[in-house]
Amino acid sequence: MKIRLKNYLLFDKKSPFVNEYIDSRNMLSGAVISGVACILELWMLIRIYIYSMNPDYRPSAWVHGHVAAYLILEFASLFFMVYALRALFAGKEEKHRSKLSIVLCYQMISLGFGIYISVTDRHDSYLNFLTMIVCSFCLFIIPPLYLIILATGSMWIYVAVMNSVSELELRYGTRINIFILLIVLVIVNVLRYDSSVKYAVRIENTGKLNRRLEKLSYRDGLTNLKNRRALKKDLDGYEVGHSANVALIDIDDFKYFNDSFGHQYGDRLLRHLADTLSQFFDAEHCYRYGGDEFLLLCPECTKEEFEDKIDKWQKCFGDYRDKERALHLTCSIGFAHAGKEDETTISNLIRKADYHLYAVKRMRKTELGSLPVFEVGEDGLQSAEGDVPITGIHKYTDGFSSLDEHANRKRQYTLENIDEAIEKHYIRLFFQPIIDISTGSATAREALARWDKGDNEYLMPKDFIEALEHSRQIYRLDLFMLSEICREYAEASKAERKFIPTTLNLSRLDFSLCNIVSEVDALCKEVGMPPQMLHIEVTETAAGCKESDLIKGISRLRELGYEVWIDDFGNGNSSLNMLTRAQFDVLKIDQKIVMHLDEDKKSQLVFSSIVNLAKQLGIRTLAEGVENDAQFDTACRLGCDYAQGYLFGKPAPAAEMEQAETK
Ligand code: C2E
Ligand code: CA
Repeated sequence: MKIRLKNYLLFDKKSPFVNEYIDSRNMLSGAVISGVACILELWMLIRIYIYSMNPDYRPSAWVHGHVAAYLILEFASLFFMVYALRALFAGKEEKHRSKLSIVLCYQMISLGFGIYISVTDRHDSYLNFLTMIVCSFCLFIIPPLYLIILATGSMWIYVAVMNSVSELELRYGTRINIFILLIVLVIVNVLRYDSSVKYAVRIENTGKLNRRLEKLSYRDGLTNLKNRRALKKDLDGYEVGHSANVALIDIDDFKYFNDSFGHQYGDRLLRHLADTLSQFFDAEHCYRYGGDEFLLLCPECTKEEFEDKIDKWQKCFGDYRDKERALHLTCSIGFAHAGKEDETTISNLIRKADYHLYAVKRMRKTELGSLPVFEVGEDGLQSAEGDVPITGIHKYTDGFSSLDEHANRKRQYTLENIDEAIEKHYIRLFFQPIIDISTGSATAREALARWDKGDNEYLMPKDFIEALEHSRQIYRLDLFMLSEICREYAEASKAERKFIPTTLNLSRLDFSLCNIVSEVDALCKEVGMPPQMLHIEVTETAAGCKESDLIKGISRLRELGYEVWIDDFGNGNSSLNMLTRAQFDVLKIDQKIVMHLDEDKKSQLVFSSIVNLAKQLGIRTLAEGVENDAQFDTACRLGCDYAQGYLFGKPAPAAEMEQAETK
């Protein structure tokens, strides 16, 4: 243990917390001991008063001296007790120094009292003084230097006074004992003072550490901006009906930078964005929302001021140059604003901004194509196509907000109610016939989902499929659709009714989100439905699924005997590639191509090329969205195998479809 002399000799400065801790201990023991002293002295005064009532009583200097001493200690104790209690309970903010002075004064008065009583009460004299000494120095935590001065001084005075009266003169042995007591007291006090200070420092450090950890848990380690947890906490402070602006910012093609220049470089970009944001806005209102998404909250300024500020920030952010390369960075921003009268919450605004950001990204993707290609030239990053402007900021405000709101509400409705809709069978199966062109009769039917909201109001797939794909819940809908098809098959076989093969739409995501192939097979086996009765349609729209999962899933399904159809062919980018990677049984030609089949030569050329290509690959073809006879005739003439569309029937519940067929 390292002992630092200066720690004990008042030369070191204690922190306010340590001083406060010592004061609170002193005030507590002070309040108790002064309270006891008050009662005792009062009792002594009462005793003298009762004694004075005795007719034999003769006033003497001894009695007067004692009364005076008791009164002094009584008042000093009373004062100290009130002072200590006020400090403890009323939280009186006196300075540490003044508290220490009061303690020292009280100790001096007590010691003076002890010496006086010891000298005047001759027989059991020294006990009074010793009691005072022990109380003063063992109950209070005072800096050792003060203790040494006080204890040595009071003992010296005591010994000197006793020795000055010949009949009280202390024996040599008693003096030695007093000296030993002095040393013991000093040691006890020093140890107690030291452990109290250390204990207080430990509490203080733990408190500081906790506060620091708490602070850190609300900060993002990389950018030092507030994190999402902090946002959640801050949002509790906002009331409904506040005016506010929210912007969600996302660096365009951040993944590209990360992959091309390394993650350290990506981190630098994120820090650059965070730094510029803190320069232009109050850092307290800037948050790192997720990977490369940042959130800005501006509770005070108007919408125009906010957008103006963002424009200025964008210039500073966009011109990012460093030693290695010069980049023209761009970002996408989703804005949302609410006035006081809008009575909306910040959480709603964030949702709205998020939706707007998503819309910007989608618009940008369609502008640039799904895979923007960049080259690093001397002037920085440039678009390889040359004609696409890649500088500037893509932002999206409340431009067509009523439409957004509508879509947003549907999205929210979907996510909030999908559990109930599945559980209570609000999702209904509609069927659309698929016609075999060679026979002219329905050879299969496609199952299409409709969400029954009650009162004959249905949500269409476009209103909820996207939200379910984004929230990665689409497989739940698809499995529900399958279980309904299976249930219908079981009912039909029980009633010995005809059941025509049914196609089930599966999102590409299903192949990554769950073991869809096993689920499909298990459900079919459970009701004894042969694989020939179920065909699987795979769309190519959902992004974000692992292609390898899809390819494996398709070949496994075919191994198990299910036909796999490729849906909406010609509507995306990867269709041709998909044909090389997996084998399909039927290729559904997208209705955008079929739409102009009756009049447009180019559409006919594309259509017949697809049919011929499919034939060479051993795949049958289906024309989707056939609405009139001319389209149907052309499809027949060009060698297509199946047709589906309003010409043969709109999607309808099973019973209605059967009725239409029997007519
Ligand atoms: P899809 O698979 O291409 O389905 C065909 C869509 O075209 C259906 O729209 C159908 O009503 C519509 N349609 C059929 N014939 C015609 C026509 O002659 N003219 C026009 N203009 N449209 C026609 P719906 O039912 O709104 O479905 C839209 C999409 O939602 C479907 O496109 C499918 O990709 C998806 N979907 C529907 N049900 C499910 C499902 O249970 N699971 C999954 N994953 N997706 C589904
Ligand atoms: Ca389909």
